[in-house]
Amino acid sequence: MSQLSPKAPITVAYGDGIGPDIMRASLDVMQSAGAQLDIETIEIGEAVYNRGFGSGIEPSAWDSLRRTKVFFKAPITTPQGGGFKSLNVTIRKSLGLYANVRPCAAYAPFVATKHPTMDLVIVRENEEDLYAGIEHRQTDEVFQCLKLITRPGCERIVRYAFEYARANGRNKVTCFTKDNIMKLTDGLFHKVFDEIGAEYPDLEQEHWIVDIGAAKLADTPEIFDVIVMPNLYGDILSDVAAQIAGSVGLAGSANIGAQVSMFEAIHGSAPRLAGQDRANPSGLLLGGVMMLNHLGQSAVAERVHNAWLATLEAGVHTRDIWQDGVSRELVGTRGFAEAVIARLGQEPQCLKPVRYAATAPFVLPPLKSHVPAHKKTVGVDLFVQWRGSADDLAGKLKTIEHGPLALRMITNRGVKVWPEGFPETFCTDHWRCRFLNEGSPIALTDIVALSSRAADAGIDFIKTEHLCTFDGEPGFSLGQGQ
Ligand code: NAD
Repeated sequence: MSQLSPKAPITVAYGDGIGPDIMRASLDVMQSAGAQLDIETIEIGEAVYNRGFGSGIEPSAWDSLRRTKVFFKAPITTPQGGGFKSLNVTIRKSLGLYANVRPCAAYAPFVATKHPTMDLVIVRENEEDLYAGIEHRQTDEVFQCLKLITRPGCERIVRYAFEYARANGRNKVTCFTKDNIMKLTDGLFHKVFDEIGAEYPDLEQEHWIVDIGAAKLADTPEIFDVIVMPNLYGDILSDVAAQIAGSVGLAGSANIGAQVSMFEAIHGSAPRLAGQDRANPSGLLLGGVMMLNHLGQSAVAERVHNAWLATLEAGVHTRDIWQDGVSRELVGTRGFAEAVIARLGQEPQCLKPVRYAATAPFVLPPLKSHVPAHKKTVGVDLFVQWRGSADDLAGKLKTIEHGPLALRMITNRGVKVWPEGFPETFCTDHWRCRFLNEGSPIALTDIVALSSRAADAGIDFIKTEHLCTFDGEPGFSLGQGQ
C-alpha cells in the first residue's frame, strides 16, 4: 500500500452525459482504496464547445495538463455539425499521446460472451496513418486522404508494445498490417516490428495481414495476447475486441505520451442515461486502474481491480450487463461503486485475481538515431484532371516532355492505362502521369520546368509528387495497380 506516498497531481474532467456520475463513482472507489491523488478539475466538452471553443477545451486547461501530466477524463458529447473538432483527436495529437492501450478481457460466466477465455490487449498507434486529417478534393470526381506512416512513429509504438508485454507478463506480440497492398507504409510498420522484435527473443512474435487477422480476432480471440497495429485498424478492432469480450461498457483505455498520458473509458457519454444513476462506471474505473499503475500506485490498482472482479462475481450488476440466472442484485452507478468499496481487500474466487504489485512502470529508451539515407530525385508523378482518353492525354503530355524527363506511364486510380491499357478499365477524371529519367538523377528545376510547360499547354495538373530513391531503393510504388 502506498498510504505514505505523496499525492500524485492529476487533472480530472467530469465530461458530459453520464460522465459526472461515472467519474464520481470511479474516484470514490479509487480514493477509498487508498489512491493518493491531488486533483485539479478542468471543464471540457459540450459547455466549452458552446462557449465558442471549437476544440472543446479552453486554453487554461492545457496549463493544468502540462502541469500534472496525467489526465483522467470522463467521456464528452461531441456536438454534431461543422466547426467542431474531436477533442480526443486534438488532445492525442497536441500532447503526443502516441500509444492507445486497450485491454479486452472476458469475465465469463459473470458477463455474457461467446469467448470466455479471451484476454488480450490492443496497442494502437494513436497519431499517424489516415488520422493526420490531410484531405483534399483534387478533381471534380476524386477525393484524397493522405496516409502518413513514419519510422519514428512505428519504432515508438512497436517498442511500447514489446515493453508493455514484458512488463505485464504477456507472452506473445502480434502485428496486423496490410503490407501485401500498402508495401511502403504498412510495409514499414511490419519491417520495424521485425527489427525491434529481434531485441525481444523472450516473446513469441507473429504478423497477420489485417483482414485474416481481424477475422481470427472476431472468431478465436483467445489465441491473441498483445496486438500492435496502425491507427485505423486499431481504432476499429479495439471496439470489436471490447464488444466481443462482453461489452464496450467494461473497457478502459490509456493514451500514453512521452510527457503526458490520458486515461478514460472507451465508451461515449451515453446522453440518454445522463443523470439517471444507471450507467456502468466499470470502463472508467478500469481506465483509473491503468492510471494508478502509471502513477506507480500499483498496490492500490490491484486492490481496486480485484474488488471490482469480486463485485462482478457476486452478481452485483448494472443493467447493461444484467443476465437472468447469473446476476443477483441490480444496482445503479452509485450502488455499484459502493459494492466495490465494500469488497476492497477481497479477491475474486472464480475469476483470476490480478497481480500488479510487482509491475514496475517502464520507460521507453530514446529513439535510436539513424544515418539519413542517400536520396536522389529521379522523376515526378504529375497528377492531372482530364476528361478524355488515356491516349489523347498521353499525346498532349508528350509535347511537354522536358530535358531528361520522359513520359513512361499513365495510371487511373492506380491501374495502368497507358501504354497498353485495357479498354475495359473504368477511368475517372484523375490521372497519375509518371515522368522518369533513365539512370541519372534530375534537378528540382527540371520538375519546375515540366510543370511550367504543362501550365502553358493548358494541362490542368493538380499536384506533383517527386519520385526519389533512398540508398538506391525506389521510394515509390511501381503503380501497376495490382
Ligand atoms: P456511447 O458509447 O455513448 O453509447 C453507445 C451505447 O452504449 C448506448 O446505448 C449507451 O447507452 C451504452 N453505454 C455506453 N456507455 C455505457 C455505460 N457506461 N453504462 C451503460 N451503458 C452504456 O456512444 P454514442 O451513443 O455513439 O455516443 C454518444 C456521445 O459520446 C457522442 O456525442 C459521441 O461523440 C461521444 N463519444 C465520446 C467519447 C469520448 O469522450 N471518449 C467516445 C465515444 C463517443
